[in-house]
Amino acid sequence: QLDHHPSGRHFLQIPGPSPVPDRILRAMSLPTIDHRGPEFGALGLKVLAGIGQVFKTRHPVVIYPSSGTGAWEAALANTMSPGDSVLMVETGQFATLWQKMAGRLGLEPDFLALPGIDAETGLALAWRHGVEPQLIEDRLRADAGRRIKAVCVVHNETSTGVTSDIAAVRRAMDAAHHPALLMVDTISGLASADYRHDEWGVDVTIAGSQKGLMLPPGIGFNALSPRALEVSKTARLPRSYWAWDEIVEMNKSGYWPYTPNTNLLYGLSESLDMLLGEGLDRVFQRHQRWAAGVRAAVRAWGLPIQCADPALHSPVLTGVITPQGLDADALRKSIHERFDLSLGTGLGKLKGRMFRIGHLGDSNDLTLIATVAGCEMGLQLAGVPLQGSGVQAAMEHFAKQPLPAA
Ligand code: PLP
Repeated sequence: QLDHHPSGRHFLQIPGPSPVPDRILRAMSLPTIDHRGPEFGALGLKVLAGIGQVFKTRHPVVIYPSSGTGAWEAALANTMSPGDSVLMVETGQFATLWQKMAGRLGLEPDFLALPGIDAETGLALAWRHGVEPQLIEDRLRADAGRRIKAVCVVHNETSTGVTSDIAAVRRAMDAAHHPALLMVDTISGLASADYRHDEWGVDVTIAGSQKGLMLPPGIGFNALSPRALEVSKTARLPRSYWAWDEIVEMNKSGYWPYTPNTNLLYGLSESLDMLLGEGLDRVFQRHQRWAAGVRAAVRAWGLPIQCADPALHSPVLTGVITPQGLDADALRKSIHERFDLSLGTGLGKLKGRMFRIGHLGDSNDLTLIATVAGCEMGLQLAGVPLQGSGVQAAMEHFAKQPLPAA
């Protein structure tokens, strides 16, 4: 039975929304101001400059009052024309949903996937691996008529805990001498995993507020390249609310063509102070270290990790595959009821076969040790035979590997 009077803090350990720090909640509680007044322009200019540093870009970043899905649509609607082919890669549920959206917008998605089933788990191989750059290069080389207008990939696949090497995707596109735009979803990667919009040659990067930025849901981002802006001038998919041109123009003075989400922008301003104040490199180290600690726990249990490629483990979340015959959602439900701990569900092809532990944003070693303890107790209660204690492994990992001083 769910305790309807829980005490202490809920453990929100899903891979986004992530816990919002008190500092950000307080910043968001200030009165909403006139979005055409003088104070607002200063706020707008501040957050636009700061968010560019997080994307590592010198070019415009568009901020929408939307979830990440809106920012996916904005990326396609601003750059594509009806019937354009877009090359997408099946890395998991979010890549699948973006591909569905492309179809609904009147585009022709070409959906690449690593074929086959994984012998160890009986799960789709494509969902345990990242984007294979060679597949992209081969497909682009075969596109002699240049029908493909964009390559769209997910940087941190939140449904699996597998990342993809975006610089390698860009190299594959360049090796094929193909002019397609590169669009990258880093909705769950931004501000937790290293990301470099300009250096990696990305044309449109899509992100959201509710993950590494530690904000509530409600902001979507498009970081642009000069080429994406150029292409948008002749692209013919209908768009109005999402259109970059008016937004980018008005953003030059810190304002928006419509009413922006003022209080979330207060939160964003605070989040940027926190992240840039700490330094992005240290933020990334923190996430890598947490992820390694959680993986140590999962290995100690003797359960498979969803990401089968050690070079591509996500710093944001870890997918844990449960033994065949055990319903992972029933396990999650019991952990929630008993220990007030929320874990991510298995999405799409992974439904019932895995759960996801989020380790992003406003967290620390003890939060994660407690999270691992909640999982371990739940697994034991469900009768899953464990090889060893994940809690012990996580404690040892965190004790032996202190985070470098700020
Ligand atoms: N893409 C990825 C990688 C995500 O993790 C999510 C949400 O979790 C989305 C897209 C969809 O974003 P939203 O739910 O904010 O619309």
